[in-house]
Amino acid sequence: MKIGAIEAGGTKMVCAVADENGKLIDRVTFPTREPKETFGDMIDYFKKWEIAALGIGCFGPIDLHKASPTYGFITSTPKPGWANVDVVGTFQEALGVPVGFDTDVNGAILGEVTWGAAKGVDCAIYITIGTGVGVGVYVNGGLLHGLVHPEAGHMLLARHPEDSYTGKCPYHHTCLEGLAAGPALEERWGAKGAELSGRAEVWELEAYYIAQAVTNYILAYSPQKIILWGGVMHQEELFPMIRAKVKELLGDYISHEMIFDKMEEYIVKPALGEDPGILGAVKLGMLALQEK
Ligand code: ADP
Ligand code: ZN
Repeated sequence: MKIGAIEAGGTKMVCAVADENGKLIDRVTFPTREPKETFGDMIDYFKKWEIAALGIGCFGPIDLHKASPTYGFITSTPKPGWANVDVVGTFQEALGVPVGFDTDVNGAILGEVTWGAAKGVDCAIYITIGTGVGVGVYVNGGLLHGLVHPEAGHMLLARHPEDSYTGKCPYHHTCLEGLAAGPALEERWGAKGAELSGRAEVWELEAYYIAQAVTNYILAYSPQKIILWGGVMHQEELFPMIRAKVKELLGDYISHEMIFDKMEEYIVKPALGEDPGILGAVKLGMLALQEK
């Protein structure tokens, strides 16, 4: 039996096929163009594989309420042509298989919980810091949706007293995404993130903001594992800086050995390399099949 998976992003669509154990058999990437053409390529690909179910981790915002008339749609994205697009319905109709659907970051945490760094825990979060910031939340053994779905990448932060940069997010300015995502780094410092390695002041400020958000996630969700990734976190010297700052910000208030003695095991990068998103989508497909 084969399961199809899509990691649907604003610039590319990663499509893969896995066996019933979640082992990837094949993978292709299509550039994200307008929906009709992009969906057409993906549908042709999956038709060749005769999949039993499909899982999709999707950029958003998306509608996850099964009773809603727009369930499975991308809703209000600023990406031209992609607002109010029916993702689940399009694939269900074309392929005739159960379709699992969630946010890209919920997919990623599901992948890490199922096969990766958060295996066996029942509360964990996945934070990706790239072009934007997204946070996937797994609580009490399930993915968190709620009113819409968590948008914790836009958590509001206290500005560093010496930081005069206005912030890149048009909605909040001083949210994590506005202050610390890749485009903010580039605008503040005048060079792309990858070209700023070795500049201590850049990464100290970056760790200051990421650690504030992580501290808030610890206080709010009490995760047993925190996974950080995305383009910006490829600057791996950030990990020890973030761990130290989180510890300082928590100030011994959360009394647990993970925070006192095991920060290296608590705030980590994915165990699935670059694949948590696509493997999470495989798991979303498996869950959709089970539900049927
Ligand atoms: P996306 O978020 O678009 O899916 P990525 O997670 O790869 O893609 O993030 C892209 C962002 O990460 C860009 O803003 C880029 O400048 C930044 N970035 C990529 N590599 C690095 C790096 N080594 N250090 C810091 N920033 C980086
Ligand atoms: Zn914001």
